[in-house]
Amino acid sequence: MLSYRHSFHAGNHADVLKHLVQLLVIEKLKQKNKPFVYIDTHSGRGVYDLKSDDANKTSEYKAGIIKLLAEQKKAPEVILQYLDLVAPNNAGALTQYIGSPEIARLSLREIDKLVLMELHNNEIDLLKSNMRGDNRIAVHHRDGFEGLAACVPPKPARGLVLIDPAYEVKQDYDFVVKQLQKAYKKWPTGIYLVWYPVLATQRDHSQNLIRKLTNLGVSSLLQVELGVSEQQADFGMHASGMLVVNAPFQLDEKIKPALEWLTPLLAQDDKAYAKLEWLITPA
Ligand code: SAM
Repeated sequence: MLSYRHSFHAGNHADVLKHLVQLLVIEKLKQKNKPFVYIDTHSGRGVYDLKSDDANKTSEYKAGIIKLLAEQKKAPEVILQYLDLVAPNNAGALTQYIGSPEIARLSLREIDKLVLMELHNNEIDLLKSNMRGDNRIAVHHRDGFEGLAACVPPKPARGLVLIDPAYEVKQDYDFVVKQLQKAYKKWPTGIYLVWYPVLATQRDHSQNLIRKLTNLGVSSLLQVELGVSEQQADFGMHASGMLVVNAPFQLDEKIKPALEWLTPLLAQDDKAYAKLEWLITPA
């Protein structure tokens, strides 16, 4: 039974970090005039209504994307590029937040392709409807963990995979490791972006996940993490991160100014922090 709904969380601090890294990788791939494939294993519905009851039950977007919009005059170039995409008419109030498939759809070129997977019955219908009419896109109602190994290497064998599970069950952490290992064996030159939450101490599995991915035998691994508040003992997600396998050349240099700007902006207390570290340095 899938109970997680991203509509409660769309546009929060974790989405900002995830989508910024996603977009920077896409922009790096677009620097070459060669087609590539974007694969999303856990797509969600693609577009989220910020006026909905779900979004306003938690109002997480107000402590995320809305803060960026309020301070955009002082934002570095990389942030402005992200804001141009997610909030193109940002003069008024933001009424929707776009998710990873829509970010990819808007930024990929005619020559590129998208493969989107989603398991939830309701989310897949919304995703299909939001992606309708674009013949670059294949949408699959299936388990994204299984689907990943089945659809790599893609044709052309150039591109990126976003692995963004809800981690609502603890096994998701193991699935990420196992399925990434399988996919990497079949497609070692792919770029893999793994999102992870850093939760309250009693429920946090991030260190274990990071250790396992570092020991997987991949050729390079970049860690980007953003914490907005102090870690609690029993509840909450105070930080999140992205692990990037085969990060494009100088991705870290692109991310650095964005992290430096975001950390104080999204801080909820004096424990906010950012991490940008090569866990495995490229040869
Ligand atoms: N990637 C999206 C974005 O950034 O806009 C958000 C995805 S949300 C964190 C996780 C999604 O995975 C949910 O929509 C959930 O229904 C879906 N999901 C859960 N288990 C899944 C599975 N095994 N395979 C594919 N999708 C799954």
